[in-house]
Amino acid sequence: MNLLSPNRPVDIERAAFIAFLRGLLPDPSLTVDEWSDQFMVIPKSTGSNEAGPYRTSRTPHARAVMRALSANHPCKRVVVMGASQMLKTQVALNFLCCTIHQSPSNFLWLVPTGKLHKRTSSRIDKTFAAVPKVTERVAKPGSRDAAYNNDVKEYIGGALYIASAGAAANLSELPARYVVYDEIDRSEANIGGEGDPGELAEARQTTFERNRKTYYPSSPTIEGQSPIKALYDRGTRREALAECIHCGHAQPLDFFKLIPSEDGKRVYYPCQSCGGLHDEGDKTRMFANGLWTEGVEGDNETESFNISAMFLPYGWLPWIGLWRQYQRAKEKLEEGDDASMIVFYNTRLAKCWSRTAEATQWEELKKRAEPYKLGTVPHGATILTAATDTQDHRLECKVVGWGEDMQGWIVDYQVIHGSPSDASTWARLDHILTSRYPHATGVKLGISAALVDSGGHFTQDVYAFTGPRKARNIYACKGHSKPNRPVISGKASIVDINHEGKSMPGGAMLWFVGPDTCKDYFHARWSKASGPGAIHFSVDLPDSYYKGLTAEVRITVRKNGRANSVWSQKKGEANEPLDLMNYNLAAAHYLGLHRFTPDQWRRLRESIIPSTPDLFTQPEPVAAPAAPQAIAIAKPWHAPNTGPSQDETKPTRTQDAYTQDSDTYAHDFDDTATCGRDW
Ligand SMILES: [Zn+2]
Repeated sequence: MNLLSPNRPVDIERAAFIAFLRGLLPDPSLTVDEWSDQFMVIPKSTGSNEAGPYRTSRTPHARAVMRALSANHPCKRVVVMGASQMLKTQVALNFLCCTIHQSPSNFLWLVPTGKLHKRTSSRIDKTFAAVPKVTERVAKPGSRDAAYNNDVKEYIGGALYIASAGAAANLSELPARYVVYDEIDRSEANIGGEGDPGELAEARQTTFERNRKTYYPSSPTIEGQSPIKALYDRGTRREALAECIHCGHAQPLDFFKLIPSEDGKRVYYPCQSCGGLHDEGDKTRMFANGLWTEGVEGDNETESFNISAMFLPYGWLPWIGLWRQYQRAKEKLEEGDDASMIVFYNTRLAKCWSRTAEATQWEELKKRAEPYKLGTVPHGATILTAATDTQDHRLECKVVGWGEDMQGWIVDYQVIHGSPSDASTWARLDHILTSRYPHATGVKLGISAALVDSGGHFTQDVYAFTGPRKARNIYACKGHSKPNRPVISGKASIVDINHEGKSMPGGAMLWFVGPDTCKDYFHARWSKASGPGAIHFSVDLPDSYYKGLTAEVRITVRKNGRANSVWSQKKGEANEPLDLMNYNLAAAHYLGLHRFTPDQWRRLRESIIPSTPDLFTQPEPVAAPAAPQAIAIAKPWHAPNTGPSQDETKPTRTQDAYTQDSDTYAHDFDDTATCGRDW
C-alpha cells in the first residue's frame, strides 16, 4: 500500500509521522508530470490566460523535464537552458508542490535578484491557495505556530525558503534537499561571471546526497560568461524536437530556416526531410509528443535541456512575432548596437551570443576586393575624406570615398616614412591631402575633410600641422578613452598652442572620436558586399591591409568584479588600417554624410560629377581623362610620397571639384549642421 496515496483523506498527524519516516520509505510513485496533471492548478489571480487545471499536454516538452525532477529519476540536477516563458516558473512550481504533497523536505528557492523576491513569493502564495493538496499542508498565513511569510513558508515535513541569490550566503546553515535556482544567469551572484553560483546553492544539499535535486531554469547570456550554458554542457544536452505533420520526421527547429511569405505577413517552417511546410496552426500537432534528442552521457548527474521560443505553444508568441523581433534586432546590429540581438539570442533562441565567434576573418574581406585601382575613385563614390595616423617614424594616410547610404570605397593608402617631428614628413602628407583623385567619370575629386590622430608622441606637431588648415577641414583628432562615445564628438576642443608652447590665434581644433562605437559600426558591416554601409576594397590592397583591418576582436574583461566587453588588439597585428577607417568614418560624420537623404546625395553628386559613363570600365574611353598627374599619388600603398610633382599645382580648397558649385552644396551641409552638430 502506498502510504502517500494522494487520495487518502487528510490526516495531519499521520502526515507528520510519514514525514518523520522520510528516508526510510521509498518515494511515492507519481512522477512530477503525473502529479501535476492530477492535482496542479494555475490560479486565476496570476492573470494567466492558462488559468485552471494544469495540463502537461499544453506544453508537452515539459514532460521529460518533470520526469527528471521526479523522485524516481536518478539525476541530481535538472537544467533547462530555455527561452523566456519556456518550462521555467510553472515547472518549478509543479516540482515544489509535488514534493510538498509527496515527499516533503526543506526547499530552497533562489531568485536572481532581491527585486524578484516579493513577486515570486506572491506567485507561490497564489499557487498554494489554488492547489487543495498543498493548501491543506502548508501553514496558514499569519499562523502563530508556524512561519508563513515572504521568506519562509512552513509545511508539514519541511519549509520553503525564498532568498535572492546574492543573499543566499546568509542561509549557509540551512540544509535543503531541493533547490530551485531561477535564472541563474541573471543572478546577483553571477556578477562578473565569476565563481560558480550553482555551487553555492548545492552546498546546502550535502546531507541529502542520495536524493537531492536542483532545478536550474534560465536563459543564457554571453558565451563564456553563462553559468546555465556551463551547467547545460555538463549534462545530457538534449534538444527539443518537433515532428513533421507530413512525414512524421522528428527534428530540431532552427529559427533561421523559417521562410517568410512574399507579403512578409506569415512565416513557414520547412521539414528538413520532406520539405513540407508548417505554419503556426500546425504547432500543436508538431509538439504533441514532446520529443527531445537522445543527448549525450554527460556527468551522470545532470539532465540538461535546450528549448527555444520556436516551441512556444500555439496562441503564445508566434513565429512571425519572433521573425519581426529578429529583423528589428538585425537593423540595430547593423547600426553597431548589438544589445537587442543579444536579448534575442538569449531569451528567444535560448543560445549564448558569441562576440568572438563573430570575428571577421581578413581572408573574407580580401576575397571581396574589386577591380579598381588604388588612387582612383570608383563610380559610386562622391566625396572623399582622409585620415592620418602618427607613428614614431612614419605617418599612415588613408583616403576613403563615400557614396549614397554611406557606402565606402578605399581610395588610397600611403605610408610616409620619416619622423613626425620633421617638417618634410608633414609636407608630404600635405601633398596627399591637397591631391585630386581621378573619378571614374573623369572629374577629379579633392579631399573634403581630414582628421590627423594627435595621440602618441607628436601631439604638438599634429596641432601645428592642422591648426592653419582648418579652412580645409583638416583637424586633429583623438580616440576617446571611454566606451560608447559618439563616432565624433558634438563639439571640438580648441587647443590653441603651437609646438613651441605659444598660443596660436585660431589654433588647432581637436575632435574626439569614439573608437569602440566606430569598430562596432564596421564590425556589423564587414560582411556586406554591397548596399547601405558596405565598404569596398581595391585589388591593389595587400594582405597586411586586411589583417590590420581585422586586427581587433571584442573580448570580455573583468574589472572590479564586473564583466565588460571591449575591443582588443590581436597579438602581433598592426591595427592602423582599422584606426584610419574609424577616423575616416568620423570625418564623414563631421561632414554630416551619415544624415544625407537620397535627395541630398543626388544634389551633391550633380554638383560634383557630371553624368558621364564610367571611364574606368570602358575599354575605349570616349573622352580622354585628364592628364594623370594625380596618379603620382596612386602608388602602391606602402610607397612613400616623394613630394609634390612638378606639374601638379597645389590646389586650394576653392579649386576642389566639389566646391565649384558650392552654393547648393554648402546649403546641404547647413541643413545637417542644424540637426545636431555644434560647429
Ligand atoms: Zn516531413
